[in-house]
Amino acid sequence: MAGLVHSIEELVGHTPLMELDRFERQQRCKAHLLAKLEYFNPTGSVKDRAALSMLNAAEEAGWLQPGGTIVEQTSGNTGIGLAAFAAERGYRLEVFLERGASLERRLLLQAYGVRLLDYKDATGERPETERTHPWQEPEREATLEEIAAYCRRTGAYFNNQAANPANPEAHYRTTGPEIWQDTEENVDVLVCMAGTGGTGFGTARYLREQNPALKVVLVQPHPDSRLTAEHPDVPIIDGVLPVYGVPENELSDYLRPEWSDECINVRTGEAYETAYAVLHAEGLFLGTSAAAALYAAVQVSRRPENQGKNVVVILPDNGMKYLSTPMYRRR
Ligand code: PMP
Repeated sequence: MAGLVHSIEELVGHTPLMELDRFERQQRCKAHLLAKLEYFNPTGSVKDRAALSMLNAAEEAGWLQPGGTIVEQTSGNTGIGLAAFAAERGYRLEVFLERGASLERRLLLQAYGVRLLDYKDATGERPETERTHPWQEPEREATLEEIAAYCRRTGAYFNNQAANPANPEAHYRTTGPEIWQDTEENVDVLVCMAGTGGTGFGTARYLREQNPALKVVLVQPHPDSRLTAEHPDVPIIDGVLPVYGVPENELSDYLRPEWSDECINVRTGEAYETAYAVLHAEGLFLGTSAAAALYAAVQVSRRPENQGKNVVVILPDNGMKYLSTPMYRRR
């Protein structure tokens, strides 16, 4: 039967590009606001593209043996994508979760049978144990060196999305070409947030090759919306990191300002307001980073110089994993 698919892997990518006509008018945008709806991927986020691409690359390179264990550091979405593909390919997955990740991310990973580890498992400060309370936060995150040492000790494969070339490659090969095709080869501005930077770097590289005049706007959490020792409880934008103004040695391989032309800081509260506005104008139910990117895309689309231009904004996931956060809890 030609209409059937036989694996969730076939459902990765080919996500819709939607013009937000109603929202665009309401927000007095001068440009066309085109939203890449990445929550249409099979586990609900943009990271399915990178997860599948990295898994394929690891298998091709012979780094993964049948039934082997994959280890990843993730804010959640990469882990959820890897968990789904690991399940159907017969691998085990262990995850070092970044601090501040929403409860839904932890619960989803647990549902897939993923082991949630923290720095104590990596450093051997206490015996490796299954985490019984998924909402427990460790005092700090494991460093990449600690995770790498843990993998050497246990014989697991460290996927390391922050330095894995198959991560941006996925977007160079799929996200960029899809946008180019769906806009009929007419993209003026790309707006996105960055976690590893894989999405932005890979997509921007492809689109710039097609249109050297492309403007890339990198959106980052405002300093008021970042976890600090003084403000350990501020609501954050899950899955993304600041890039501009961050010391060079703290940036990962693809998380670099160079591939963008401009940076816009967005507060978590501004993302929440935008999420409500677009929920009511279009019926779109967005995750926090999607709403933050959309807030910035509106600012860009209101500029007189962008009259009639095509502004593409990448919306990494939807609101389902944020219901436990303050995001949709008012009104
Ligand atoms: N938004 C969300 C919700 C994410 O989980 C991530 C990935 N951590 C991103 C944006 C950024 O994606 P990338 O790692 O490709 O920069």
